[in-house]
Amino acid sequence: MGSVMSEIECPNCGFEYATEDYYYKSSEVYIFCRRCGYTESEFISNRDDLINGKTKSPRYKQEKTGGHGCYCYRTKGAVAFALGPVKKGLIQELSKHIKKMDKCNYTYKWQGKWFIKDLLTGKKMLFALESQVK
Ligand SMILES: [Zn+2]
Repeated sequence: MGSVMSEIECPNCGFEYATEDYYYKSSEVYIFCRRCGYTESEFISNRDDLINGKTKSPRYKQEKTGGHGCYCYRTKGAVAFALGPVKKGLIQELSKHIKKMDKCNYTYKWQGKWFIKDLLTGKKMLFALESQVK
């Protein structure tokens, strides 16, 4: 299955570097914003019925979540970062495992501006894309 990834303006917060992943064979779309954590997806919800031959018509479902902040962490020794929308209780859960991480931060909006807080140092600063995963 092929897809085209591109940068788009986030439909939630207006950040210019949200990621859109468009699967051109199935017309499924996934959007993720690393500033506000907004996710939007339109995907085939009856894939099993299509595979089993029960139907020939894909049924699409749309979901939207997040938009209040984005977490980013990397476990010590790992190459990849984990990113996702901030949910209730998540920051407290990440804080419990902070000694296993060499990078851990999250974004939040305050008085109309986006900030990023580093959980390792406690420092807060204005959000910049490069400050999240450096
Ligand atoms: Zn956004």
